[in-house]
Amino acid sequence: MHNSTITRTYVLPLPPPPPPPQTQAQTHDAKENAVAGTDRILSFTSLPRKARASTTVARRLSLGGAKNVQETEANSAVSEKAPIFGSRIMVFVRLRPMSKKEKEAGSRCCVRIVNRRDVYLTEFANENDYLRLKRLRGRHFTFDASFPDSTSQQEVYSTSTAELVEAVLQGRNGSVFCYGATGAGKTYTMLGTLENPGVMVLAIKDLFTKIRQRSCDGNHVVHLSYLEVYNETVRDLLSPGRPLVLREDKQGMVAAGLTQYRAYSTDEVMQLLQRGNQNRTTEPTRANETSSRSHAILQVVVEYQVKDASMNVVNRVGKLSLIDLAGSERALATDQRTVRSLEGANINRSLLALSSCINALVEGKKHIPYRNSKLTQLLKDSLGGACNTVMIANISPCNLSFGETQNTLHWADRAKEIRTKACEVN
Ligand code: ADP
Ligand code: MG
Repeated sequence: MHNSTITRTYVLPLPPPPPPPQTQAQTHDAKENAVAGTDRILSFTSLPRKARASTTVARRLSLGGAKNVQETEANSAVSEKAPIFGSRIMVFVRLRPMSKKEKEAGSRCCVRIVNRRDVYLTEFANENDYLRLKRLRGRHFTFDASFPDSTSQQEVYSTSTAELVEAVLQGRNGSVFCYGATGAGKTYTMLGTLENPGVMVLAIKDLFTKIRQRSCDGNHVVHLSYLEVYNETVRDLLSPGRPLVLREDKQGMVAAGLTQYRAYSTDEVMQLLQRGNQNRTTEPTRANETSSRSHAILQVVVEYQVKDASMNVVNRVGKLSLIDLAGSERALATDQRTVRSLEGANINRSLLALSSCINALVEGKKHIPYRNSKLTQLLKDSLGGACNTVMIANISPCNLSFGETQNTLHWADRAKEIRTKACEVN
């Protein structure tokens, strides 16, 4: 039905004039050794040589960087710490409100959330007999928390992600995924709107607030990158150009040439996010008027220095990945024929690969098939291993989306079983 590719912008709160270009784009490849004079490097020139070398490694870090970047004593000690959620990932469900259009079309709500944990899926409009529903297999699910449609963005953030931000400031890694069908509220949850900013924005705000509380001496350095995977192609959202090539090096999977910005404030990050979102590939589909057709990954890397027991200065790196996945519905649910079906197939291919990885992790397999898609290659260090992972499954209340909602809930239910033990990766 709709064939042209458009881009959608979520308007984010921006300061009126653009700040002076304190941030300087750095690409890994070309600028690695020609960094003199850039703002980012200047801030590190006062560091000991060893630490400077470490920060160079950090800059090379990409979304697939398999471990905490530095192998300093302190850092390897940090990465060996048990994941903050124990040996599991946290899975949340968020129900979005019924839209005006759906209400006008006479749609009925097919989801009930009880006690902020239990999700009941019912095809009946006024179903209150939860006990009876409980007996219906595949219709009752329990999660770490389930957010009814009245839940605020702040509450979703505080319950699901705030702990990860704290962990990142201790030199650990954390990932938050939004999963669900097109129109279920993934981008709203991740990015939000001007009035109701989402998890990405609230996490960055919180991060800078916490950094300010911890140190006034500029000890913490924040780097940021933003990319999308579209049709099995990796693109830099902050500096669009040629597709990025994934490459494996000592640090894990590297998106060669990915821009990393040094960020100084929330406002600045907002600007970068807005720029990135303007570059994001979106598409009107039947299911959603402006649907994100790509998987978007925002990565925030925080570096800081601490003194170890012998009073040596050591570098620590924490990394937070915030991932807005493309819609999980079947290709047929969007548009048939044309580019859309290829796109749908590719979206499904990477989501299928993600599900295969989850299944392999749940089953405790040694071989986790990360290589099956670009998305899973990039997320290698966000699933399994000693990661701190949060999944937010977004669902629609509309009875017409019953099948998709059920699929999403089954997927999330399965994801609950992932154990975050160290495992071999390919
Ligand atoms: P997705 O990214 O999953 O395709 P969107 O986040 O774009 O879906 O959401 C689809 C529509 O529903 C958007 O208009 C969005 O503003 C609205 N929406 C989603 N979740 C909520 C919510 N929790 N509260 C209010 N509106 C929401
Ligand atoms: Mg979206």
